Amino acid sequence: MVKSGGRAAKGMLPLITELEIRLRVSQIAEAIARDADDRGLVVVAVLKGAFMFLADLLRRLADLGLEPRVDFIRAASYGSGTRSKGQIKISLDCASPVKGRTVLLVDDIVDSGRTLSRLQRHLKAKGAARVQTCVLLDKPSRREVEFQPDYVGFEIPDHFVVGYGMDFDERYRYLPFIGILEETRGERRRRVSLNGALSQVRQPPLERPKSAPRA
Ligand code: 5GP
Repeated sequence: MVKSGGRAAKGMLPLITELEIRLRVSQIAEAIARDADDRGLVVVAVLKGAFMFLADLLRRLADLGLEPRVDFIRAASYGSGTRSKGQIKISLDCASPVKGRTVLLVDDIVDSGRTLSRLQRHLKAKGAARVQTCVLLDKPSRREVEFQPDYVGFEIPDHFVVGYGMDFDERYRYLPFIGILEETRGERRRRVSLNGALSQVRQPPLERPKSAPRA
């Protein structure tokens, strides 16, 4: 059982450490700042998983002189299975005006791509001039719809991850690092293990989004 508040949690081995996350978030913020235009940035974060990434990213953006508005959106997936196979519905819409603005949609992880592609379409339909997408983690092997985030922290293999905002059954969100959650053979309870996945973590290049229309 995990008892501690993070670093020393027993049995919790990080796939991506706190330090690695911190360095990568700074690089992502720098890339976003390089690409920023003067249309008034609205950062829209997807609840709940993006909360920790959002908080760190905003502080780095502020260090770089950006002063974005911040809002939240929530999506729920209806259909079969635990992953978002079904239809994506917006259960909480952002209240901030996005018409004519550049929106940066921030999420913890992209898996099938259904959630972010649906939310991107939704924000464009509300009149956003440009909707960029930023995720800390990407599982490209899981993609079911055509979707490529503009900013990706780490590409990871197909494992269920927790920590740094991400949960399993509302647990583990508080962890300052990211670990893999797997079912152990012969046991019903779950534990965190690395399972040889460490070498498959990649940091893709953070270049200016090719799709970005420039005014
Ligand atoms: P997608 O629509 O891309 O299939 O799913 C995206 C959402 O599924 C994420 O925002 C997240 O809530 C959830 N998700 C996908 N993979 C994982 C994972 O490995 N761990 C956790 N905790 N959530 C995940």
